[in-house]
Amino acid sequence: MSLAAPPAGAQASDQKPATPVEQWTGKTLLFIGAHADDDAISHGTLAMLQAHGNQVYILTLTSGNVGTQDPNLSREQLAVIRRQEELAALNELGIPADHYINLGYDDGLLEFEDRKAVVEQLVRYIRKLRPDVLMAWDPGRVYQRWHKSDHRAAAYLAADAARAAMWRLLFEGQIIQEGLKEHMIPEYLFYNDYDFGDENLWVDISGFVEKKVNAGAHYVSQNGPGWLHYKPVISDQETEEMKKGVRQHIRTKDGKPIEGFRYYRGLPDAIGKKTSE
Ligand SMILES: [Zn+2]
Repeated sequence: MSLAAPPAGAQASDQKPATPVEQWTGKTLLFIGAHADDDAISHGTLAMLQAHGNQVYILTLTSGNVGTQDPNLSREQLAVIRRQEELAALNELGIPADHYINLGYDDGLLEFEDRKAVVEQLVRYIRKLRPDVLMAWDPGRVYQRWHKSDHRAAAYLAADAARAAMWRLLFEGQIIQEGLKEHMIPEYLFYNDYDFGDENLWVDISGFVEKKVNAGAHYVSQNGPGWLHYKPVISDQETEEMKKGVRQHIRTKDGKPIEGFRYYRGLPDAIGKKTSE
């Protein structure tokens, strides 16, 4: 046997945070998603990070103004409903309302927006908030990850913004005129709908399951009876059904409730490359 690099896949899975996520404190985290509920995948982790004295910011790119099968809802009504649902969910996690940022792009069309304008806005928030960790849809490691439309766009936009934020001469007006400074995000937690085999880090969300369940039960227009016919108030029984649904989707590993991520540490340029420790 030579000392050749380990087989593809082994290196990335070897990367681990210096301190386990369960012990993180004093960090600033920026979560970028496409829709006001994309963060639900990570609610246990977000609740934990918030409870442990980290600053958690949730940035949603679209207003979610298309995601309904209710024939009577307008785009404007749905955007308002989804903002309310998201703020109620974040409140359950202990995340303050002023840590929720919505860029207001149209749902379903994110990849057709002016990419430069979207990235510029994301770069501005990265330079303002100066996150230690970016949480985003996984753009894929080595290869491109397929996601449904807006998630696909959000994955690349977030990665592209992370990259652009560190270069002083990119969007330099923010630096010259707005008093911001370039910023390199050192750590990343990439999330997916499912485990496609890229996950290399599983956060133990024991103690935060109830917060995740309670938060998830607020997305009435998405996962509840409001999907087909929205109503602002649902019955106790319907709430319980929604909580049951969230609970059923919580994954376990070694008998513990977990949320999985692809952890990456390093230059944003190499987010998709094999990494070494
Ligand atoms: Zn989504």
